[in-house]
Order: sequence, then C-alpha cells, then structure tokens
Amino acid sequence: MRDMEKLARKGILSLKPYVPGKSLEEVQREFGLKELIKLASNENPAGPSPEAIRAIEGELDKVFRYPDPPCTVLRSALAGKLGVTEEMITLSNGCDHIIYMIGAAFINEGDEVIMAEPTFTVYESVTRIMGGRPVPVPLRNYTHDLEVMAQRIGSRTKLVFLCNPNNPTGTLVSQRALYQFLGHLSDHVILVLDEAYFDYVSEKDYPEGTSLIRDDLNLIVLRTFSKVYGLAGLRIGFAVAHGDLIGLMERVRDPFPVNRLAQAAALAALRDEDHVERVLRTNEEGKAFLYREFERLKIDYVPTQANFIFVDFNRDSREIYNALLQEGIIIRPGFIWEYPTSARITIGTMAENRRFIERLEDILD
Ligand code: PMP
Repeated sequence: MRDMEKLARKGILSLKPYVPGKSLEEVQREFGLKELIKLASNENPAGPSPEAIRAIEGELDKVFRYPDPPCTVLRSALAGKLGVTEEMITLSNGCDHIIYMIGAAFINEGDEVIMAEPTFTVYESVTRIMGGRPVPVPLRNYTHDLEVMAQRIGSRTKLVFLCNPNNPTGTLVSQRALYQFLGHLSDHVILVLDEAYFDYVSEKDYPEGTSLIRDDLNLIVLRTFSKVYGLAGLRIGFAVAHGDLIGLMERVRDPFPVNRLAQAAALAALRDEDHVERVLRTNEEGKAFLYREFERLKIDYVPTQANFIFVDFNRDSREIYNALLQEGIIIRPGFIWEYPTSARITIGTMAENRRFIERLEDILD
C-alpha cells in the first residue's frame, strides 16, 4: 500500500478538492440529454462580444508562437481604463490562478488567513495548500461581518479575503464599512478584495477597490474576464495592486500565464462597451423576472448585486437540484457551503430563466 501521508505535502491530505458546478459535458454524459441549461457557474449566458470572437479568429494562425508573458497591449489598455500604471497590473490564467499566486507569494506555513463563511471556496483551498490556517468568519445576515473579521486580525494574520459582491450570496460590503475595516489593517496584513462581479453592481454605496490603492496599504484587487466579458472558457483574470506587491506575485507566476487567444479576445472585449451594456441589461431583466417568480412561488431569496441569486427553498435543496438535473437544468446546491436548504442560481437568458421556473414549479408541486 502506498503511504499517502509520506508522499503528500503537509496540508494536502486535509484538503477538500474544489467541486466546480457540473459541466455541460458531465451532465450530457450522465443523463444523455441534448438540451441543457447551465445556471451553476455564474457564466455569462449572453456569451462574449462578437468582436472578441473575431479577434480570436485573427489570432488562430499565430498559436504556434508562445504568448506575450506580460500581456503588453492588454495590460496597457487596462491601465488606461482603470487609471493606474502598468506595473500595478498582473494578468494570469483566470482569477483562480491569481489567488493561487497570492497564496504562493505571501502565505507561510502557520500564517492565518481570514475569510467569510461561506465565500468563494478557492481562498480556503489555496490557504491549506500553502500550509496556512483558514480563519472562517460566518456571514451575518448573508453579508461579511467586518466587525468580527477585524477582531480576528492578530499577529499571525497574513491575508484577509473579502469577496465583494460575495459569492455565493451576492451581497455587498458598503463603502463606510470597508473604510472602517481598512483602519484595522496593519503593515503585515494584506487585504484581497475580490471584485470578480464588479461590473454587475448597481448599488451606489459600493467601494471600488482600485481607487483605494495607495502606498501605505497592502491591498490587492481582483477582476476577471470570465463574467461580464463572457470569456470564462479562455481563462483570463488580473490583479491590481501596488507595484511592490505585483512584483512579488509575478515571481511565482507561470512563464506564459495567458494564452494568445485569451489575450486577443480580452482586448477586443474590453473595447466593446456596447456589448457589456447589453449583458448588464439582460442580467437586470433576468433578475427582475426571477425575483417576481420567487415571490410568487414563495421562495426566499437574497437580493443580489451580481449575476446569481442565493435562494432558500426551506427544504433539502439537493432533492430539487437532482430533480432539475434530470430535466437538464444545472444549479448549484447549497450543501457545498453547508446551507442544505439553499442554492445558488445563475441568472440565465430570459428563455433559460423561464424554463427553469417552469420546471422548478413542477418539482415543488
Ligand atoms: N472570484 C470569484 C468570487 C469567483 O466567483 C470566481 C469564479 N467563479 C473567481 C474568482 C475566478 O474567476 P476566473 O474565472 O477568472 O478564474
């Protein structure tokens, strides 16, 4: 028998592997269904900008060349858009990998990493991989409890992850609450503000992380092309921070972190602001429809600032999840976050939202 304890790095054996939302391919194979609706991974159902697709086509004949490691053109466009310098941006193979880079660059064995519970699960796994100690702070009223998170900061704290809007609940940390929290951070602590769903936020009282970056604050802001830009399958995300922090993160980055097609597509997507407007309108329309239908069906939901809604069926959501799967509709069941009666539902196209509600109503009956 192989002795796994001897082979594995410390921390790996206690690690629960990340369970992604079921993919279309998995469900297709399991149930043999042709028509599937995926409302499980907060992808953008409207897809990418047609300009991004054209840019990918234009890049295809260059794929025998390695990609440009610093993503020179894209990084410069992003810097211009965000009003920061290029040294303050690093891009990589999805924000998932950026979070991994943060872990590899900053977490020493035994370091404490504060995060909400539930929140995006990759924070916890990266912390464990690096031998750090996750310090979970339960949400209060589905929102980050910044008071308690501040109380948990101690001499061993290295990182604080704050997901704004939070995945899976879609809730925000307000400007005032965040400003107060910043006062609790000392120079050995890094705050990671994960703004993967930044573009979907309509609430005015939302602190835009990139405008808070300054010399005397260890702040890293995360953004991705997977959501509003509809490029999840290409894997590209980025971090914005003081150049010193970006420099440390780049020491642990892959040699060629972003493939050619992703770089070309992201640049074109960034420029197509009309497409982003359309995506946001579709999301708002879907959100309003789902709110109305949840109210009609007496399903509790948490008002969202993102492209997904956290609902509470007040009964085992795994049964509902499985019944929907049989119908080819994939949602994210709440047991993953130890909320067994809840589920996270990505807002789809209007046709997908309607079909989901029809099937759900039948199942609840
Ligand atoms: N952060 C949050 C909060 C997310 O929900 C996701 C995607 N599910 C990511 C980061 C990772 O994004 P990417 O697709 O860029 O890896």
